[in-house]
Parts: sequence; C-alpha cells; structure tokens
Amino acid sequence: MTAYNRVLLKLSGEVFGGGKVGVDPDVVQGIAREIASVARAGVQVAVVTGGGNFFRGAELQQRGMDRVRADYIGMLGIVMNCLALQDFLEKLGVETRVQTAIAMGQIAEPYIPRRAIRHMEKGRVVIFGAGMGMPFFSTDTVAAQRALETKCDVVLMSKNGVDGVYSADPRLDPTATKFDDLTFEDALQRGLRVADATAFALCQENKLPMVVFGMEPEGNILRVVQGERIGTLVSA
Ligand code: UDP
Repeated sequence: MTAYNRVLLKLSGEVFGGGKVGVDPDVVQGIAREIASVARAGVQVAVVTGGGNFFRGAELQQRGMDRVRADYIGMLGIVMNCLALQDFLEKLGVETRVQTAIAMGQIAEPYIPRRAIRHMEKGRVVIFGAGMGMPFFSTDTVAAQRALETKCDVVLMSKNGVDGVYSADPRLDPTATKFDDLTFEDALQRGLRVADATAFALCQENKLPMVVFGMEPEGNILRVVQGERIGTLVSA
C-alpha cells in the first residue's frame, strides 16, 4: 500500500545540474531510477521541473535583460531538463509524455490537463515543461497549479541540500530547527521561503498538502510515497 495514488513531484533545476550549470546525466539517471521505482509501486506520477540550472529570469534581469524575455529564456531552459529526464526514464522502460506550456510540437505535446490525467491513468509519467508559459511565475507555483488541475493528492517538493522546512536557513543559522509538520499559514506568517508564497497560498486555499524533503539519500521519493515521515509535511 502506498500513501498516495497520484503525486506531483517538483524537482528544482539545481537537482538536474548537480550544483553546476547544465544537465549532469549521471544525476538525472539517478532521479529517473527513483521515479521509475515510484511508478512501479503503482503510483501515478506527474513531474514539474525547474530550470535554475540554466537561467533564472530575475537574475538575467539584474544583468540588464528585459524581464519578460529573460523569463521566456528561463522557461526554455526548463524544457531541456524535461527532455533529459524523459530520456533516462524511457531507457528504464517507463513510458512518459512531456507536455509543455509553450507549444513545441516536434518534442512535446501541448499542455492538455485531461489528456495528462489519461496518460497517468495508463501508467505513463507526465513531465510538465516550460513552466506556466507566462513570465513572472516560478515553477513552485506551477507545481501547485498543475497538481490541482490534474487532481494529484500531494505536491512532493524535492530540494537540493535542504531536507525539510527549518525555522531559519540552516546553512546560515546553526540554531535552526526542522519542522516535522507545519501549516501553510505558519509558514507564510514566519516568512519561511522553502517554496514561494504563491505556491503556498494556492495549496492552502485548496487544501493540497505538500511534503518538502531532500533528495539524499537515494530512495527518498519512494519513502515519502510509501508514507514514511521524512522531511516536513505542510498542510492547511
Ligand atoms: N519561469 C517563468 N514562468 C513560469 C515558470 C518559470 O517565467 O511559469 C522562468 C523564470 O524566469 C524562472 C525560470 O523560468 O526563473 C526557471 O524556473 P525556476 O526559477 O522556478 O526554477 P527552479 O528554481 O525550480 O530551478
């Protein structure tokens, strides 16, 4: 028995790059192995990938670019992560579909939520790319929105180097303590920025739980799906 029937996994871009710019194939292969084990456990999986390992619009803006164009560059970066993940998943025998919010017919389906649900019901892993297709959004918000629209039970927010939600940034403050569970309201009031505020607000309003956890050690995604209490459970 698993704790969830259909999950939305958010992978930040940093995860794909292994801390560097670009895609690290060894790292992506490891992620694909984990997702394959979750799919084989009979859980329906949708994935939203970030793109911070390539471009972040806000950072390009600081260096003189127009924000809107910079955000579109950010969204195109995301798609490269999606294709890399698709490749390694299919090599493991997992059927996948990439759906993008910006049409690019040669490499992906357009984002069609009802079709995405159908794919998942057939056991295919659906990878949502190009963010929301709109500037000024983050992929955390996309994760919450896609999870709601495709009726996922939970958002699994997987982070690099952080294994849950802390009272302060554990990399800067050695007295920071980790929460086992937390409400969205608490997180918003305390200004805890593990996911962005828009994503939190969407989950809160629609009572969609979120588990924030680290990718280390390998196997954590399956552990969460099987109901093991790791990371931080954020709920309404
Ligand atoms: N982005 C956007 N609209 C979206 C999602 C993403 O404009 O709906 C752009 C934005 O510039 C962002 C970049 O794509 O900085 C990469 O996404 P994000 O920073 O969320 O990736 P992550 O931090 O998860 O790696």
